[in-house]
Parts: sequence; structure tokens; C-alpha cells
Amino acid sequence: DPKESLNFIEQMIENDLKSGKNSFVQTRFPPEPNGYLHIGHAKSIVLNFGLAEKYNGSCNLRFDDTNPEKESEEYVNSIKEDIKWLGYTWSDEARYTSNYFDTLYEFAVKLIKKGKAYVDDQSAEEIAAGKTNPTIPGIKSPFRDRSVEENLDLFERMKNGEFDAGSHVLRAKIDMDSPNMHMRDPIIYRIKKVTHHNTGDAWCIYPNYDFAHGQSDSIEHVTYSLCTLEFRDHKPLYDWFINELEIFPSNQTEFARLNLSYTIVSKRKLLQLVEEKHVTGWDDPRMPTISGFRRRGYTPESIKNFVKKVGVARRDGITDVALLEHSIREDLNKKANRVFGIQKPLKMVITNWPADKTEMMQAINNPEDETAGTREMPFTREIYIESKDFMEEPPSPKKFFGLGPDREVRLKYGYIVKCTGFEKDANGNITEIHCTYDPETRSGNDTSGKKVKGTLGWVSVPHAVPATLRLYDRLFRTENLNSIDDDFLNHINPDSLTVVENAMLEPSIKDAQAGDIFQFERQGYFVVDRDSTPEKKIFNRTITLRDNWAK
Ligand code: ATP
Ligand code: MG
Ligand code: MG
Repeated sequence: DPKESLNFIEQMIENDLKSGKNSFVQTRFPPEPNGYLHIGHAKSIVLNFGLAEKYNGSCNLRFDDTNPEKESEEYVNSIKEDIKWLGYTWSDEARYTSNYFDTLYEFAVKLIKKGKAYVDDQSAEEIAAGKTNPTIPGIKSPFRDRSVEENLDLFERMKNGEFDAGSHVLRAKIDMDSPNMHMRDPIIYRIKKVTHHNTGDAWCIYPNYDFAHGQSDSIEHVTYSLCTLEFRDHKPLYDWFINELEIFPSNQTEFARLNLSYTIVSKRKLLQLVEEKHVTGWDDPRMPTISGFRRRGYTPESIKNFVKKVGVARRDGITDVALLEHSIREDLNKKANRVFGIQKPLKMVITNWPADKTEMMQAINNPEDETAGTREMPFTREIYIESKDFMEEPPSPKKFFGLGPDREVRLKYGYIVKCTGFEKDANGNITEIHCTYDPETRSGNDTSGKKVKGTLGWVSVPHAVPATLRLYDRLFRTENLNSIDDDFLNHINPDSLTVVENAMLEPSIKDAQAGDIFQFERQGYFVVDRDSTPEKKIFNRTITLRDNWAK
């Protein structure tokens, strides 16, 4: 039964389309431009844009911009860029709740005229105290029974800037005894003498979320207004406004927000990390923002696949970040070309190889993708290998497949070499190793019949491209950051960034551009960072090859 595989929102939509309750699917993605988008938003994006695609409908991008003091054009632009990068297109122009301020004002006037809204002169504290708590009746404001005329006059004067912030608010007149606190005469307009990123100084009163969101949905004829579970208690209010205003009946449906282990998904806290410089910015590769993931080397497909795998639920849960990490490994395994990159170079001299001889070796770019082709790698007398691939005395010799005195390994795409000696400095560090190669063992043309257990990566010393590698680990060391009682900053992983200077990369990497992603064989996936210069390449590690998080 194909219905079985539909999530509950898709089932609802299909039922509505069949019964004729709705004839089209109009969704919206409604970010507040008060920060950069994070992985939680990706879930909402995939859901809203995905449903529009699936049911031939459309999805609006609407900036829910009713808190001018926290919002900015920078955030608007970053949000647009991130949605486009994920591969989605919103219908027509981007919308702004602030473009509806005239209409919303008219809606408020309509409520006042119906006797369903009043201007309250109480302070915010008095209003909050009057709401009491859900188990006992609230206390009615002494201003609740003002006449329509007086309310219209005061509300207009609020709009004209005659009053100070905090001196008056407009409240809906609903039910001070409701067990739902949102129905106890909620504030719908407040005075804020703040410049708005879109409307400038045109307004000094601003609608609050509940008086803007549903109405904007209605103005745009949104048929499915999808939001996270915290808004379940707001739904009666959402419906009350639509009924009283007699406007297009948009419908709110709630779904579970995405929570990820070891990850903060709250714009407010992410902003704190940025402002207090725990990270280098919103797009620091450790940030769970879309822009952070992009800079880290995550692909749009890996994020979308992850979100789809998580699915849509009606109950909150916490998703293992390992699922996201699996998703990027799976995608890059198919897409990323392999190269040799040596993090901690140890020089090997092949003593029976002529000093001036360079032989070109053929290397496979991506064993998962034949169309990726091959490349040539210069093989010379001096090469770099990974330091940890040489051990003078391996603790368990049978389990060690690297080099050591008298040991043999294959240099991948090259020859089999045997270690004949090494040099140490005064501190006992190995500084150089000496090997001989066997000319009968050239890769693809091996006539020796020799079998060796170890295969190592390598880079020709005269051709090597030095690079800086930024090795990232999780930004937080605590699995469930929702259940902590102390400050989330106490849970930052102090080792979330290790910088490796003077790694040595194979020469084919020379022309790589910012955003290009490679698999460094046996090391992990790495992306060229935009801080790279022609003189100095800088790579961010996207992810290790296998999960080795065990601390
Ligand atoms: P935050 O708590 O991080 O500030 P928000 O909900 O206040 O998030 P908005 O800009 O209002 O941020 O969010 C835009 C849309 O994205 C909303 O519809 C919201 O429900 C959705 N969204 C935000 N966070 C998540 C999440 N973690 N999982 C799923 N959807 C989310
Ligand atoms: Mg919000
Ligand atoms: Mg928020």
C-alpha cells in the first residue's frame, strides 16, 4: 500500500485533495531574519519545498520580520543563499511580513470595531501578572471595556508615535479564564521606536508573532502552514483570528523539530557562540549552520538525504549526529576524487633510484566512479610517507602493516620498497628512512610474484604541495544538550579544532579551487577553504573516513 510510506502530513494532504477540502498545495518557509539558518531549518525547508514539489504546488519564502531590533539585511541575504544552495526555488519574489503591515493594521482596526480588541495602558508586568496561571481565572484589565471609539483613537495615536514604548499595547479581547494562556487576551501590537530593516521608520508599532503569522499565511493563501510542536498551543488563537477576521482559512499543522546529538540548534545560542567568539563566525566549519556545513564540505544532497531519512514525526526526539555524518560519507564516497595527502610527512630516500629520474605513475581518481578517470603522479628518489606508517619496533608486529627495519610495503600505484635503514635526531625522532625498490614490482606491471600486506600513500618530495589542514571535531562533547542544567558553554569540546601545518599533498591538487572536495586516501574528506591563497593551500577536514569518536 503506497499510503503506508506517506508521512502524516502527506496523508493529510492527499485526503484533503481527494475530498475537495483543498484544491492546491501552498506552503511557505517562514524564517525570522535574526540569524543564519541551521540544520533544523533544513528540515523545515525540505518539508515545505518538498511538499510543494511533490504535489505540484508552490512554496513561498517569507521573512517573518516583526522584531526589528534583532533582524538585518545580512541575515535576509544569507537565508536566500542557503535555500538556493540546497537546491530550492521559492515562488515569485521573496515575501516579507513587514510588507503586510498596512493590511495587518487594517485587520487590527477591524477587530477593534467588532469589539474584539482593546488598548491596554497596563505595563508588561501588570499584564503578565493579570494572566495568572492556567488553573485559576485571570484578572481582567481595568481598560478592557473601553469603547470602540476610544480604542480606535488610542490605537491610531499609538501608530502616530504619540506614546512611549511600553505605555500602551493592543490586546485581543478573548477569554481571561481560558485554560490556554495564549487565549487570555494576548498582546497583538506593541510600540517599538526602532528602525526596521525593510520598512525603515515608517512604523513605530509592530504586530507580534501570533497576530502576524497566521494572517500572513492567510494573505498568501497558504493551505498548509507547517510549524514545530511548540506552536500547538497557539493553534486555537491562529484559528480565532482567522474566524474573527473572516479571511482565507489557512491551516496550521505541527511536526517535531529536529534535535541532533552533540549539536545546538537554536539561533539564539548560535548567535552567542558567534558574538562571544567561541567560533570564527556563523559559517565556521564547526557550526551546525547551513553555511557552516557548506564551508565544512557538506553537499546539499548529503543534508537533504539526511533530513529525509530522519522523516517527519509528531513527537520530539533526538537524532544521532552519526546519521548526518554517515550521509556525507556516503555522498562523498561517490563524488570525491582520491588524492594522496600526507599529514605528518616523513622523508623516504629510495637509494637505488637515480637522483634525476622521474617516472609517471597512473592513479585512479575514484574507484566508485569510472568516469572520473585517472591522473599521473610523479615518482622520484625522495618521497614523503605518513610518519605513523613507520615504526622502528611496532608493539604488535603481526598487526602492523607499515614500514620498519627490513619490512616491505607497496607504495600505492608505485613499487614495492624495502626498508634498509633510518636516521634519528638527537631526541630520538626518526628523521629519514632509507629503502630500496624492486624494479619488477611496478603497479599494473608486476612480474615479481611478491605479496606484501601493507600499501602506503606517498608524495614526491620535489613535487609536493605544502598545505595547512584544519582538522575539525564536534563542537560539543555532550550528547544530549537538551537535558543539561548548566550553561551550554560548559559543554564545548576544547579540542574541536587541530591545525596541521606543512602537510604535503600530491601535485595534482595545485589548481584546486575553494569548495573543491577530495578524499585524502586513508585520511578523510577535505575541502579547499576560501582562506586558501595560491601560496598557501588551506583545507578543512569535512569528516574522517570512519567514525572514530570514542572519547
Ligand atoms: P530557533 O529556535 O533556532 O530560533 P526558530 O523557530 O525561532 O528557530 P525561525 O526563523 O522562526 O526560527 O524558523 C523558521 C522555520 O523553521 C519555522 O517554521 C520553524 O518552525 C522551522 N524550524 C526552526 N528550527 C527547527 C528545527 N530544529 N526543526 C525543524 N524545523 C525548525
Ligand atoms: Mg520563529
Ligand atoms: Mg527562535
